[in-house]
Amino acid sequence: MTDIKRVRDETFRKLGLQEKNSGIFNGKWIDYTDDGRTESISPIDGTSLAFISTAKESDYEKTIEIISKAFTEWSETPAPYRGSIIKKMSDRLVEYKEDLGRIVSMEAGKVTSEGQGEIQEMIDIGYFAQGLSRQLYGLTMASERPMHRLFEQYVPLGPVGIITAFNFPSAVWSWNSFIAATVGDTTVWKPSSKVALTSVAVMKIISKVMEEESLPPIFALLNGNGKVVGERMANDRRIPLISFTGSVKTGRHIGTRVSERLGKSILELGGNNCAIVTQNSDMKIALKGVAFGAMATAGQRCTSTRRVVINEKIYSEFLNKLKSIYENVKIGSPLENGVLVGPLIDNEAVKNYLAAVKTAQEQGGKLLYGGKPHNSGNYVLPTIIEAKEGMPITREETFAPILYAFKYSTMEEAMRIHNDVPQGLSSSIFTNDIREEEFFLSARGSDCGIANINTSTAGAEIGGAFGGEKDTGGGRESGSDAWKSYMRRQTVTKNFGTDVPLSQGVRFNIE
Ligand code: NAD
Repeated sequence: MTDIKRVRDETFRKLGLQEKNSGIFNGKWIDYTDDGRTESISPIDGTSLAFISTAKESDYEKTIEIISKAFTEWSETPAPYRGSIIKKMSDRLVEYKEDLGRIVSMEAGKVTSEGQGEIQEMIDIGYFAQGLSRQLYGLTMASERPMHRLFEQYVPLGPVGIITAFNFPSAVWSWNSFIAATVGDTTVWKPSSKVALTSVAVMKIISKVMEEESLPPIFALLNGNGKVVGERMANDRRIPLISFTGSVKTGRHIGTRVSERLGKSILELGGNNCAIVTQNSDMKIALKGVAFGAMATAGQRCTSTRRVVINEKIYSEFLNKLKSIYENVKIGSPLENGVLVGPLIDNEAVKNYLAAVKTAQEQGGKLLYGGKPHNSGNYVLPTIIEAKEGMPITREETFAPILYAFKYSTMEEAMRIHNDVPQGLSSSIFTNDIREEEFFLSARGSDCGIANINTSTAGAEIGGAFGGEKDTGGGRESGSDAWKSYMRRQTVTKNFGTDVPLSQGVRFNIE
């Protein structure tokens, strides 16, 4: 068993972390005080990793003032220069990838390759952002008036508030902040208090680059309670855009607060992702895709596979094979080699898992595998429950490795089960039949923001726009043209003639 305290101490030395760390950065690190702090506790074995100080009202006010001021300067620097700065940040993350990834594993409980993968995602989005910095295009339209030019341009928006969930403690910040900074915005980050240490570790690396490049404080960090700091951000008219990642419940609240003040929001909320496995699938691929989707990150991804809908002709064979994969998967400390399933984030999550298993059985579900804790602490057995269509619990997102299995006979039936949930984040179909594929991609098919063919619901790449429909909130982040959400679009009409001709033939003759 890895000695977590030894690993912590070595990693802290390399990253300049201490037992007590400031959790507030706004161009400089605000001195740590014990008066208002959060404790970072490893879900691996309950070890206390560190203390992180949290923001007071005065820290909040000062920080918003500072990033608002920085916005003026930063938004006026050329975008390609901004992109080159973000690239430097990615280069630096490459150097510290292993150490930062280890912090993610220790604090969020992600297995080593996933902890490292989280940092790789930051690196990737940074390099993407640099390319983007030369491609912030607007359209030019043909004007109906003589000697007129009509075009649209994208203008930086202002300071952006980023509120993130515990399960992607660093990558989601970079999806937002690297793109926002590239288009000319400044950002303030409120991370989940469950993973405050990761936010400090990331900001230590990023703030060094800011200092070396003599940048204005384009990125700020405000650790603190959601109800205090997060709520304040949602209500703050100085922050035109709030990008919120978290549960549907909190997201609904934040979305309402922001829209009340007619602000913009990007909502990236919970999922209830489903995979359809047809009789025309390659079963080996389907098994791996579903097993990874359901068990990776111990079922704590927004894109985790929570439901599988299997054709009746292969139903028993598929589930028997899936069960044997579950029986052989290694569960334990994410720092150990070969472990694929780590712990849940905390004891509350274990309780939620156990309650969902119980409820599912009360509602008529049949436990096929798992359903109980694994050893002590926050470890649980990944679980498969045979479900009936309409069981209320299967329409909820339980943030744990519980997979509900359904049987179908027609594609219409499979699609109905698939779409019959309030959330709409990610989806998959496993098939080699082009008609089934196209049905899945049609208007009658998957109603999710992400649709996958022959691959898992989990594990998106940064190049595409990421986000979901329905209760998942409708936001889009990361690649493609998601950058447009961080800018305001301005339609420009320019008259370079000697008269003022009006559109639609309207006349307004004055002497
Ligand atoms: P959560 O909703 O409990 O917390 C998310 C963030 O909101 C945290 O930073 C928290 O401190 C903050 N918060 C809590 N109350 C607040 C309030 N009143 N005002 C402002 N902020 C407040 O979610 P979680 O448990 O950290 O994360 C898991 C959830 O996030 C799951 O539902 C998961 O599906 C979702 N998630 C979605 C995506 C996506 O991209 N769609 C990605 C990751 C996680």
